[in-house]
Amino acid sequence: MTKEDVISAIRNVPDFPIPGIQFKDITTALQCPDCLRWFRDEMVEYYRDKGITKVLGIESRGFIIAPSVAMELNAGFVPIRKPGKLPAKVVEQSYAKEYGTDTIQIHADALTPDDIVLIHDDLLATGGTMEAAVELVMKMGVRKVYVNFLIELDGLEGKKAIQGTEEIYSLLSIKVEE
Ligand code: AMP
Repeated sequence: MTKEDVISAIRNVPDFPIPGIQFKDITTALQCPDCLRWFRDEMVEYYRDKGITKVLGIESRGFIIAPSVAMELNAGFVPIRKPGKLPAKVVEQSYAKEYGTDTIQIHADALTPDDIVLIHDDLLATGGTMEAAVELVMKMGVRKVYVNFLIELDGLEGKKAIQGTEEIYSLLSIKVEE
């Protein structure tokens, strides 16, 4: 499997969910066992020696690969969810979207000050969602925060929105207009 093989398995859907957006649909790549394994193995290889203790996935496409990576790293998995989904006490962070605001939540007892955290999502566009996730984790207090995406949209400068982390790493880069 090469990066090009995996990129060609990702479907581009023009004008979804609204006109002008080129939606990168990973479900076509997820159907391919070699691509699925490639996503997991690339992440495990990259993060193996970084002392990660918790892998955090952002709802909902961040839930697909993150748990299998967590198992291989001997780390725990923690979901970051939309409001009203987590049953126990939560810490939350709101952030501005193109229209209105959105909120994400995490269980208040999910992290400890000793944790080295990897926050994962499928795709980096403007960076707004991940920026909020990083702020959420930072206000809970952990040792280090790493950030990972399967795909980074090249041309949107999303990385600039995400501040204060150890490192931001994307497995694949796709031009925003492709
Ligand atoms: P952003 O906060 O702008 O970086 O958007 C990232 C979130 O929205 C991720 O959870 C993605 O799953 C989703 N997203 C944004 N733009 C796209 C796109 N062009 N294709 C697929 N998913 C997208």
